[in-house]
Amino acid sequence: MKITYDTNIIECDKNKHQINCNECQKITDHYVLSSIEQFGTTSVDEDIYWNCKNQTIQCVICKNISFRTVSICSERQSYDEKGESYYSEKVEVYG
Ligand SMILES: [Zn+2]
Repeated sequence: MKITYDTNIIECDKNKHQINCNECQKITDHYVLSSIEQFGTTSVDEDIYWNCKNQTIQCVICKNISFRTVSICSERQSYDEKGESYYSEKVEVYG
């Protein structure tokens, strides 16, 4: 089985994102300083794909820098209250 990877480097944006800060111990505004997005599909079944954003983030209040990943996989679907499927994001924050 062949797995195809692709990588995108996304410029930092000036938007603020609500993310939990380990230093402030609450949800605060963060800047996303850089975001490197990797996505892949398999040659066997093109319906299977995944996408992972690797982000360096900075808390606006305490300036602490941490790292987070936001990933989705087509095999991991959730259903909203209307019964419509969507890809649930798996978010992990490090540091
Ligand atoms: Zn903070």
